[in-house]
Amino acid sequence: MARTSSSSPVTDLERAVLECRQRDYNLEGIPMFLVLEDYSPDQASDGAVAGGRLGRLVQNYLDHLAAGRGQASLLDAATALEVLAAYHFDPEGGEDPVTSVAAFGGLTAGPLVRTINFHNTPPALSADIERQLRAAGKRFRSVGEDDLDGLLSGGAWHWPKPPLIPVFYEGYRNNYEVALPLLERLGLRAWFFIPTAFIDTPVQEQHAFARAHHIGLTDDDQPGRRCAMTWDELRDVAARGHVIACHTATHCAISDVSTPEDIQRELVRPRQRLEQELGREVKSLAWLSGAPYGENDRVDLAVHEAGYRLIFSNTKIQRV
Ligand SMILES: [Zn+2]
Repeated sequence: MARTSSSSPVTDLERAVLECRQRDYNLEGIPMFLVLEDYSPDQASDGAVAGGRLGRLVQNYLDHLAAGRGQASLLDAATALEVLAAYHFDPEGGEDPVTSVAAFGGLTAGPLVRTINFHNTPPALSADIERQLRAAGKRFRSVGEDDLDGLLSGGAWHWPKPPLIPVFYEGYRNNYEVALPLLERLGLRAWFFIPTAFIDTPVQEQHAFARAHHIGLTDDDQPGRRCAMTWDELRDVAARGHVIACHTATHCAISDVSTPEDIQRELVRPRQRLEQELGREVKSLAWLSGAPYGENDRVDLAVHEAGYRLIFSNTKIQRV
């Protein structure tokens, strides 16, 4: 992302928002900040300077949006976090890098963790993906499920590099064939969010399944060719220490779930399926479109009863 000499943070942010919205979310690794919710405020101590600056930038931006056309939306908030990540992930160019652990004093709403969201990782992009992951690995240390539990509790982060969560969505075959070897070589642990029905769809039907369920494809994904990981591949990913999380069964949004049958199909059974195939506990969930916890009482209850303990949304990681 190009940086501009800044006179007004809002103008800079608006320009950066436009740049962000031109990105290809299916093919680019998108750096984000996510707010960690369920954090003890007593622990937020020395992030005042860096965290405060981030917080002011986001607040300025959201105030500006709200003044223009009513309530700033969740998407606006997510974009603001994404813009800030783009500004602050990479400390080149004299900008305040905000890479110190002390920066987690937080945004206005709480402490932050960095993520990079990946989707399709075709072989043609492996050099770009490697460059991005290598740069991330130099400055950050990746976060496992236990580490995240600690961070959410306001626990100390004992490593010299600040935490980062590389995330791969949809369970693509090329996440296994392209991204996994890079992660292994760079010593990074990643999180893989899997819509289980994609894995369970016969190879001949996977291309059509993806098209019907908002799973972005590339020229590399051809009808008749396997597009999803196999269960054996997922078991290998898990055995190598990466986190496997649930992304519903059919890649559905929270608004698609209304009946008890929907809850069984999209929340209860996919978690059971993952646990049965992988032989380990699955704690984390993300919806298509990244809805947070706390906005739909009935589904929230179902999420909890289905056994999930963490939700990844567009703006936050929350304890359930
Ligand atoms: Zn997805």
